[in-house]
Amino acid sequence: MDKSEDVVFFEAMRWGGRVACPYCSSLRITRRKDQRFHCNSCQISFGVLTGTPLGGSKMPLEIWFQALQIVLDSRRPVGGRELGRLLGVNKMTGCRMNQKIQEGMRKQESRLLFQRILAALEHQDK
Ligand SMILES: [Zn+2]
Repeated sequence: MDKSEDVVFFEAMRWGGRVACPYCSSLRITRRKDQRFHCNSCQISFGVLTGTPLGGSKMPLEIWFQALQIVLDSRRPVGGRELGRLLGVNKMTGCRMNQKIQEGMRKQESRLLFQRILAALEHQDK
């Protein structure tokens, strides 16, 4: 399970205080004890990454934050293999994470989200 401070941080970056259901956009959301959310409109539960290009992964948020910093802060392209090595995960995982980040950079919404996260992480010196 992710550290709650990481979930709260991602939540603030993504929704800025008003969690919205990624399926139906409803704001009638209940926070569950396991760091997930429940939508009271469509009755689906979701996590902070659900509906973002980083969703569907079991990787802890803190590793995603590191990956975003490595890939997006670098002045030269970082390959999946290298990313895996730097994160201490296997190269398959590194490649998949890199793909998800690149995919996210191609969509305006997630690109802005990544940039917000990066700026905030730099500010916190995390
Ligand atoms: Zn919903």
